[in-house]
Amino acid sequence: MAEQFDVVVIGGGPAGYVAAIRAAQLGLKTACIDKHTGKDGKPAPGGTCLNVGCIPSKALLDSSKHFHHLQHQYADHGISVKNPSIDVTTMIGRKDKIVKQLTGGIQQLFKANKISYFNGTGTLHRDKAVSVALNDGGEQQLQAKHVILASGSVPIEIPGIPYDNEYIVDNEGALDFDHTPKRLGVIGAGVIGLELGSVWSRLGAEVVLLEALPDFLAAADIDIARQAAREFKKQGLEIRLGSLVKRATVSDGQVLVVIDGKDGEEQLTFDKLLVAVGRKAYTDGLLDEAGVELDDRGRIRVDGHNRTNVDGVWAIGDAVRGPMLAHKGSEEGIAVAELIAGLPGHINLDTIPWVIYTDPEIAWVGKTEAELKAAGIEYRAGSFPFAATGRGLAMGDAVGMVKILADAGSDAILGAHIVGANASELIAECVVAMEFHGSAEDLARIVHAHPTLSEAVHEAALHVDRRAIHRAN
Ligand code: FAD
Ligand code: NAD
Repeated sequence: MAEQFDVVVIGGGPAGYVAAIRAAQLGLKTACIDKHTGKDGKPAPGGTCLNVGCIPSKALLDSSKHFHHLQHQYADHGISVKNPSIDVTTMIGRKDKIVKQLTGGIQQLFKANKISYFNGTGTLHRDKAVSVALNDGGEQQLQAKHVILASGSVPIEIPGIPYDNEYIVDNEGALDFDHTPKRLGVIGAGVIGLELGSVWSRLGAEVVLLEALPDFLAAADIDIARQAAREFKKQGLEIRLGSLVKRATVSDGQVLVVIDGKDGEEQLTFDKLLVAVGRKAYTDGLLDEAGVELDDRGRIRVDGHNRTNVDGVWAIGDAVRGPMLAHKGSEEGIAVAELIAGLPGHINLDTIPWVIYTDPEIAWVGKTEAELKAAGIEYRAGSFPFAATGRGLAMGDAVGMVKILADAGSDAILGAHIVGANASELIAECVVAMEFHGSAEDLARIVHAHPTLSEAVHEAALHVDRRAIHRAN
């Protein structure tokens, strides 16, 4: 006999577990099925983000940043430490502990919210019947009034360059190296390539990023991308643009990579190769004659409210259209749970912030200058360098800038772009302003504490109207 639920969520990543918690808060009888197990073989909800994505990568970025600053920045403060060293095993162990704490925390939240959690693979059948092949063995049948599909994504594999998890690795492998590779090749100078490339470069690896496109970080605003590229170069990251990887083979413990570059075919040798060329929606084993349609990119097709073509079946997160970001999936999860409960759930895909946690950090929301030009929208741009802020100088971290783009007529903020320390936190103010249809003038009239990095946001907003105080207009 199948157990009855108001809502069954398949997938316990940031999209699925958040949807389950919100549904339970709203009084709906809820189950969440997630198949992931941790390094210790125990159930570990939290999806890619908590287990092998956002959180472990940030843990390693923070550890490696401390090590790098110790070697390259602390001397300016008068601090000297002779022969600093890093113990990679301790660093990885610290990361694993954080992951375990957070995945354990989700299981506590499931209990606190009376959510039935099944560790196994969920499959949706006709009429919202769901079967769970439990990791412990056996099968469980569930019957739902509503099903939320949140099965996430997996790394794209380049044909002919299969992952072997020793020499040719994906994000999971690169988060778990047991020593710093001497030479690390990275295919793709995108978000993962830059973040994980930075980690190992700061610890002493020679890192070469091989990027097929001719432009660096094409999704970011060009001024931000240029400044970031300059800083990464200074840090020793070698970024080779226009380098299409043709093949890679492993021989004698080395990875041989053949690229079609600017100067023709070239062979490069690495100790490890990280392939980070994007992710694709994952739906293996999820749908059994359920009638749910996929789009031409294999993503679950949804409308503006995350409804699939099957009544009562919804889909959220990386498995559907839109940016593959944890916060986007979580907000979709909340919106869908609220819609199921009869409330007006909503998510605005136009104000989703992007953050790249390199040093300097990169963050943006809304349109780039190139996108506004292409759309023929008249705009005014204001910018302000962190080098002109007292706080940036006091911190010894004054690289980068804030750039704000506002509609030439209405002054509405159309985009905000930041490269610099704490960009990940500073962008939140710009998101709030855009969500409330704020103008550059609104940001300019808000009092910002002194001395803070947020004064650069304030000054950039003033500069839109050419009345910045601490820079020439
Ligand atoms: P997932 O997190 O992929 O979760 C899906 C879960 O469903 C998985 O546990 C999977 O095993 C499970 N599952 C799939 N099918 C089934 C099934 N049939 N039955 C049961 N369980 C199933 N995003 C950010 O916003 N910020 C970051 O800093 C960031 N850093 C990242 C760093 C890296 C290295 C990577 C790889 C990604 C990063 N991301 C980041 C992206 C972020 O991880 C994803 O956008 C996010 O995890 C997507 O959430 P999701 O719930 O849709 O899917
Ligand atoms: P990405 O799309 O950010 O970057 C992939 C890069 O690989 C692109 O620049 C692309 O041009 C390049 N590329 C593709 N094929 C290539 C080839 N054959 N040779 C050389 N270059 C090639 O993808 P990613 O870095 O794998 O990350 C996947 C997704 O995970 C991101 O788009 C993002 O949604 C999410 N993520 C987010 C964060 C964050 O929010 N901080 C961090 C990591 C990952």
